[in-house]
Amino acid sequence: MLDIETQLNIFAELTQQGYLDSVRILPENDLNNFKTHKIIWAIEGQLTIAGKGVTLCVGVDDSFPRCLPKVFLRPPDALGFIPHIEDEGYICYLDSEGLLLNSEDPFGIICNALDKTVDVLQKGVSGSNQLDFTNEFGAYWRRVSSKTLFAFLPVDNVLRKIFIYTNNKDTELIADKISNIKAYSNTHSQNLDLLTKRTALYIPLKDSGFVLPPDSNNLWSSQDVKMIVHKNLSEENRRLLKYLGRKWKSEELVVLGIPRPRGGMTLIGILFSGVIGGHPLLSGRVTNSLVPVDIQRFDPDYLLHRGGSHTKLSNFRVLLVGCGAIGGYVSLSLAQTGIMHLTLVDPDVLKPENIYRHVLGKKALYQPKVTALKEEIETKYPYLSVTTYQADIEQAIKDRLIDLSHFDLAIFALGNPTVELYINQLLHSTQLKNPITVFTWLEPLGIGGHALLTRPNELGCLQCLFTPATAIDTPLYNKSSFAAYGQSFGKDDLGCGSSYTPYSFLDAQKTAESAVRLGLNALTESERSSPILSWKGNDDDFVAAGFQVSPRYLLTPDQLHTSRYNYINPQCSVCGEQHG
Ligand SMILES: [Zn+2]
Repeated sequence: MLDIETQLNIFAELTQQGYLDSVRILPENDLNNFKTHKIIWAIEGQLTIAGKGVTLCVGVDDSFPRCLPKVFLRPPDALGFIPHIEDEGYICYLDSEGLLLNSEDPFGIICNALDKTVDVLQKGVSGSNQLDFTNEFGAYWRRVSSKTLFAFLPVDNVLRKIFIYTNNKDTELIADKISNIKAYSNTHSQNLDLLTKRTALYIPLKDSGFVLPPDSNNLWSSQDVKMIVHKNLSEENRRLLKYLGRKWKSEELVVLGIPRPRGGMTLIGILFSGVIGGHPLLSGRVTNSLVPVDIQRFDPDYLLHRGGSHTKLSNFRVLLVGCGAIGGYVSLSLAQTGIMHLTLVDPDVLKPENIYRHVLGKKALYQPKVTALKEEIETKYPYLSVTTYQADIEQAIKDRLIDLSHFDLAIFALGNPTVELYINQLLHSTQLKNPITVFTWLEPLGIGGHALLTRPNELGCLQCLFTPATAIDTPLYNKSSFAAYGQSFGKDDLGCGSSYTPYSFLDAQKTAESAVRLGLNALTESERSSPILSWKGNDDDFVAAGFQVSPRYLLTPDQLHTSRYNYINPQCSVCGEQHG
């Protein structure tokens, strides 16, 4: 709470500096006018906007001055229907997210808020921010809506018949077909087939259309809606409406798609009841007032905030081999980035010693890692299909369970270089075009991690990293290693407990992130070659355990980055031959 001295100072300064005229501190009773905003202290005064005298009220809640003051226009419609004026006259003058306030200067904060408010009001009166209405159409509509429906339909420009599915009066779901809703729930369950359905129309308006939201005191009539729709329909959609509106019922729901100037579409619902003589948007008459319906979008484009290039991530097929510490994070990250077809391969069950390092924790104890991850992913994220093979990858390929060429991206997090070198050879020995492949692995005791990209039939592969078995000084040594040659890191060397250091999950997470980023960059073609990306950790524990780092570990992160293609060996026995 502001102390009395600060209150009086603010009052005096506002009066002296002429921000507001006839300033007064509001009596406590008047604060009830702003109930929803928890105002505990407020001052009111007059000023002139575009030649018109208006009353503004500046109120603060308990946390002021660590948050913005709230400014209200009294009465709310003093300047007509303009953008950014909400219920109780609350003026939305600034988005406070990411804003740093100087809480030492409450008066300064209030002055700043008033400046911004005046700007918003002036733009509103002059009409220069009219487009804000359309951008925030959803918010205005929500304010007048008395009912919510959940929509799973693709939001596009085609006027069409859609369905409202319901099992009771409370939850109503809108979709083109029941499979939209099944896809969201990642289920093939037939329970959803039991929902009853009735028809509605989806009517997308033209991109150039400008539609003003209704004022909460002045809702649209069915004539208003009809006019708005007809004014903003494309020729094709006008024809479709005539055709689809021929059959009509006494109650008709229409879902309007209103284009936002900033891109995308806002969906709003309008329920007409007591319809006689035809569809309410054609020749029909409506005897009841219409019901505005808030439409909550659950379609993938909306949930993933995507448009354009990111949409195609959902079409890629991704294989993840190895679902341990790194693989667990890889799978969840892939799901969160919008990959929707994921195949997991791993033979193991989750053991007690995995609990702290694995993303699933103890709830998956003794369960196959692949099925537990599938469940985790499908519960958390909609629209995903996860296929699992609890199998060894070599065996799965031999048994033809897995055909590598069916995937756009494969990520191997096996921690088994022998098998990975074999897979690497397989990828390059056939005439495969797919998949782009990422091998990823972790170094011991937190010294770092790596992700290497390789493309079938192109230079740069896992084999390029290895010294030949015939090398006299370093046979079969991974040249990217941060550990010096010739040390072994079996459990005997590290001690049984050492692989469970509390931070090793962070190393796994970091390595997984690097692998996923690399894979997605390759899929979206922002990475067009085959780099190795290595991150360097702290070597304290590693050195304390008596081990030595390699010369590569001594490179700076910048040097590691700039040398990311240097490992590529044109004479490589695996990727080199085909090009030589
Ligand atoms: Zn190679």
